[in-house]
Amino acid sequence: MTDVLNPATEERVATVDAHSVDSTRDAIGRAADAFPAWRAMAPGQRAELLRSFARAVEGDIEYLAQLEVAEAGHTISNARGEAGNVRDVLNYYAGGVERHLGDQIPVAGGVDITFHEPLGVVGIIVPWNFPMPIAGWGFVPALAAGNTVVLKPAELTPLTAIRLGELALEAGIPQDVFQVVPGKGSVVGQTFTDDPRVAKIVFTGSTAVGETILADAAKSMKRTTLELGGKSANIVFDDADLELAAATAPYGVFDNAGQDCCARSRILVHDSVFDRFMELLEPAVAGVVVTDPSLETAEMGPLISAGHLESVAGFLDGVDVAFTGSAPSGAGYWMAPTVVLPKSPSDRIVTDEVFGPVVTVQRFRDEAEAITMANDSPYGLSGSIWTRDVGRGLRVARGVDSGALSLNSHSAVRYSTPFGGFKRSGIGRELGPHAMDSFTETKNLFIATD
Ligand code: NAP
Ligand code: MG
Repeated sequence: MTDVLNPATEERVATVDAHSVDSTRDAIGRAADAFPAWRAMAPGQRAELLRSFARAVEGDIEYLAQLEVAEAGHTISNARGEAGNVRDVLNYYAGGVERHLGDQIPVAGGVDITFHEPLGVVGIIVPWNFPMPIAGWGFVPALAAGNTVVLKPAELTPLTAIRLGELALEAGIPQDVFQVVPGKGSVVGQTFTDDPRVAKIVFTGSTAVGETILADAAKSMKRTTLELGGKSANIVFDDADLELAAATAPYGVFDNAGQDCCARSRILVHDSVFDRFMELLEPAVAGVVVTDPSLETAEMGPLISAGHLESVAGFLDGVDVAFTGSAPSGAGYWMAPTVVLPKSPSDRIVTDEVFGPVVTVQRFRDEAEAITMANDSPYGLSGSIWTRDVGRGLRVARGVDSGALSLNSHSAVRYSTPFGGFKRSGIGRELGPHAMDSFTETKNLFIATD
């Protein structure tokens, strides 16, 4: 049994049964048994079941959102958007089921065609920072492509995933096609990775755990998609709309209290506009509304747990804080948005993922240095570039080794565009038009006509 706590109040929200190795294996076995019928279902029927699931989520958005506020401390407006994202992803890939086209390739002496064959059972392991969207980005294209799914939510935030499992059944998704298996990473997650009946692991979480999953998955040659950490740059050139860049920079890093793998946690500013940018940034940071996340006005809530607050606070030991925003005191795991001026580019606050409401600001002298600094990280997930010179914007975008960049905005993840990281931010891409491909094997068939 695991207690789920409300991070804004420290009160218990629910108690959830944790699965054992044996009950996890049983779930995998049921998913394997459910695979042949799900795979054989007429494409139009599978698509309609996913649309039915989307309608069930749509009808439950307010309940799902309130659950996410309670278990994860997400602001209510974000939480509604996150539940809506699951609906949108279901509708998007429902449209893909009947359009997952193979090739017909010119060959001599016959006809050559390819098929996208589903893999079988897909294990999806989800972190606590965005429990609903990250789950959906995995399970939806997996189901659409004809696989069955076992999904492990994070121990700290299992409630919305459990609810999504109930909604799937209510919507008519057959029993055992989509199972939610709460429990510990070292038990349930490790069993997914070790069990040879699981054909693929989709893991989102820390780079350290991602490395062990990749190594362990190799033993049964499992396919993997890994979405890991980030330390993304927000590059502000001297010709940028500085007012807009400064006004939006806090939201590019402090959204979800900075517990976002895409957080633009390193602001790089051209030397000539550095002082002006800092003058504009200070009121913008002070303006971030950090409060009870159930309030409509909330822009940032608490951190996820006492342990995580301690880890984030530890990064501030000995650093020079330029200024901070505000945060409530009393119960809950609160931290004010914090802006740090690093002493050296090798400071831990610059090199390591903090995963909290902390941002560093550094100077650069020219375009080449901006690219070098942005790339001076083992990670490469996201990033933003602010300039009115579109040519420069494109050059810098091509130069930064990151999977998801935005020019003159801090674009959130869109379900219709690919998402994933370079370097130690992961392997593979989720979302976008091609996501179903990564849940299938390509089969080539040559048919002799001569
Ligand atoms: P984590 O410790 O790596 O945990 C992620 C998930 O993996 C949890 O469900 C966890 O289970 C499970 N897990 C732990 N050990 C495991 C093992 N040996 N085998 C299988 N599963 C295991 O990460 P976190 O602390 O929850 O999340 C924060 C990290 O996730 C950050 O580094 C962040 O950058 C990254 N992240 C990346 C993305 C992206 O898309 N790139 C998105 C969000 C977050 P428990 O429930 O037992 O902890
Ligand atoms: Mg962890």
